Amino acid sequence: MTGRTRLSTLAVHAGERRPNPDNAIVPPIACTATYTFRDTQELRDHFEGRIQREEYGRYGNPSVAAVERKLAALEGAEECALFSSGMAAISTTLFALLRAGQHVVLTADGYRRTRQFVTGLLRKFGVEATLVEPGDYEGLTNAIVPGKTRVVLGESPTNPYLRVADLERLAAIKAQHRGSGLKVVIDATFATPVNLQPLQRGADLVLHAGTKYLGGHNDLLAGAVCGDAGLVGAIRDLRGMLGGVLDGHSAYLLHRGLKTLALRVERQNASALRIAGFLEGHPEVEQVFYPGLASHPDHIVAREQMRGFGGVVSFLVRGDLDRTSRFIDACKLPQIGPSLGGVESLIEQPALMSFYELSSAERADIGIRDNLVRLAVGVEDVEDLIADLDQALRA
Ligand code: PLP
Repeated sequence: MTGRTRLSTLAVHAGERRPNPDNAIVPPIACTATYTFRDTQELRDHFEGRIQREEYGRYGNPSVAAVERKLAALEGAEECALFSSGMAAISTTLFALLRAGQHVVLTADGYRRTRQFVTGLLRKFGVEATLVEPGDYEGLTNAIVPGKTRVVLGESPTNPYLRVADLERLAAIKAQHRGSGLKVVIDATFATPVNLQPLQRGADLVLHAGTKYLGGHNDLLAGAVCGDAGLVGAIRDLRGMLGGVLDGHSAYLLHRGLKTLALRVERQNASALRIAGFLEGHPEVEQVFYPGLASHPDHIVAREQMRGFGGVVSFLVRGDLDRTSRFIDACKLPQIGPSLGGVESLIEQPALMSFYELSSAERADIGIRDNLVRLAVGVEDVEDLIADLDQALRA
């Protein structure tokens, strides 16, 4: 496929081998833990690089490799490595990039488990971390310790306030440290390559929780990292040791999900934008956070760098914790659940989901208000979603 092929076409065809065994249009699912060798000569040929084939399930699987080729094409990357979950991708990538005595800078408004991994577990292994507020590029510049900081880790858009990283600015900051080995790593789970391709804007690696939009049907867990062959190869080698591999059946589901990625995300972009506008004008809503709205602090960057603004809308209901819970309980279409990116809409009150064990004051300290709601828009008819939200807000 040429470099000019567009995204929906790539989503359907990239990485596919023609013909598949038995001329099936769908590649077979390789459900196998190991691969056998015809004779010891084949084993020798494999280890001495004369033939390309699989050896053992922790090192590779053809169903997984097919999805890796497709996702690499969608990101415009040389290579992709898939994992058993988004967290397996993130933790393996950071372990591969960092060692004791080095330093990572990450944005504060990020996935909580990533933050805990970096500021808790990596610290135990001698890696220091500095958190900077999203949008504070001066703070980020000042946080970089020349020669010591190896990774700037950001998300775009972030969770739950959907802050959008200015990737051109991050690339310029990285350029000031040329030769120091500093890498910019972006978790673009909320964007997907339909809306943003961070590698094309100067990032070194892009991460995904494939569990969300890439799979798209709330039925699998997966993670991915894409980038140049050298970096991804080193991460893949470590995956072979740490073992967070995707199995053949999940790879099949992810492959199937990716085929409709552009369709689903374009629908979710359009619905979320309409819902965000509706909520912003609603008397029972205090504030809406959506990068597609002019009121969002990163609207201009999002307009310049993203093709769509994503399917997640966060907002503050007018009222306290209980009033917000009553609104959520009154919703009939979106179900209460902690994920996003699937065809079914999901809704949650972060105070009662990801941050349940914190007190109201502790939550306020990290910017999580009791009346905050995160809506992950699915592919239902937007008129039905709006009518449902309206009746629940008025209930
Ligand atoms: N990154 C982001 C932005 C996420 O939202 C999540 C999960 O919610 C993850 C990573 C982790 O992915 P997984 O749940 O597949 O481990």
